[in-house]
Amino acid sequence: MITKIIPEEKIQKAKKYVEKGERFVIVSHVSPDGDAIGSSLGLFHFLNACEKERVSVIVPNDFPKFYKWMPGAKDIIIYEKYTEFANRLLQEADVIFCLDFNEPKRVEKMADALVAAPGRRVLIDHHLNPADFCRLTISHPEISSTSEMIFRFICRMGMFDLMTQEAATCIYTGMMTDTGAFTYNSNKPEIYTIISELIKKGIDKDKIYRNVFQVYPESRLRLQGYVLYRKMKLYPEKRTALITLSMEELWRFNYKSGDSEGFVNMPLSIEGICFSAFIRQDKEYVKISLRSVGDFPCNEFASTYFHGGGHKNAAGGEYYGRLDEAVQIFERALETFNPSLTKEYDE
Ligand code: 5GP
Ligand code: MN
Repeated sequence: MITKIIPEEKIQKAKKYVEKGERFVIVSHVSPDGDAIGSSLGLFHFLNACEKERVSVIVPNDFPKFYKWMPGAKDIIIYEKYTEFANRLLQEADVIFCLDFNEPKRVEKMADALVAAPGRRVLIDHHLNPADFCRLTISHPEISSTSEMIFRFICRMGMFDLMTQEAATCIYTGMMTDTGAFTYNSNKPEIYTIISELIKKGIDKDKIYRNVFQVYPESRLRLQGYVLYRKMKLYPEKRTALITLSMEELWRFNYKSGDSEGFVNMPLSIEGICFSAFIRQDKEYVKISLRSVGDFPCNEFASTYFHGGGHKNAAGGEYYGRLDEAVQIFERALETFNPSLTKEYDE
């Protein structure tokens, strides 16, 4: 038995939307990760199995190649490429599912069209402090992935039979990527009850792991070597590590979206390091990624200094300015927000 965490009245309301709706749009956040794509496609396959003929998934911008193998990935509409078409779908939708984000700002250029759309919006998410922009808000930060929320949502509607193998594959992918292949936020027994149900649906979990984590281009490994050898700065007295990459360096290594995914986690394998930051020049801003082990709150750090947010152990933000300025802000922030003073860090 899986605990019923979503309140029954929310399930009943959502079920009515699913039953009565004809045109569905599923949206997720900018720079979509495995959980954004996995939860969206999981729900997409489920709605298709409910014989809904007009179901679209829209994300603000493109996503890494190592998620493109997922069933249904080819049908995902990239908002920045097909803006007019996507705007029309949003405008005409009866129901819009907002997955894996907690405020309109997280869909960047799609935010205005999303908020202006007349259809019923349903938020299903696991980030803290959801903004009030949906008719129905199903938000559970204690759950480690939105994909797991989608599993629970489908089961609770009594429609587990309509979860196809494709849906199960996408749901598993999101659960796996948001927990670093079940190495963090993954100690709740029910996660494994759910995985066992997904395996019974016919997923190949070992193949899913290989499809995501063992298909990197050579250039990514070269960049990884360069980053570790030349670009990782340690602040031992702060138990902190920082990696930076400029636009020039990204070009030099033929950078493609997703090539630096996971870099921010690497310094956490150094004994004593409990906080790691990766600051990278992006097209329009400097992107900050933060990770911690133990109780250091990356989300508070991100919201205080970089207009961002996220989870305690994984968060991010942006800085509009130069890379070296962002680094300066980061180093100054460490003076007041010192990770080595976090009480609950396990020795
Ligand atoms: P990543 O470092 O992988 O880009 O992001 C890790 C997590 O931090 C994401 O799942 C998301 O919850 C959060 N996050 C990343 N960037 C931002 C941001 O700019 N704003 C907010 N609110 N959250 C972010
Ligand atoms: Mn997520």
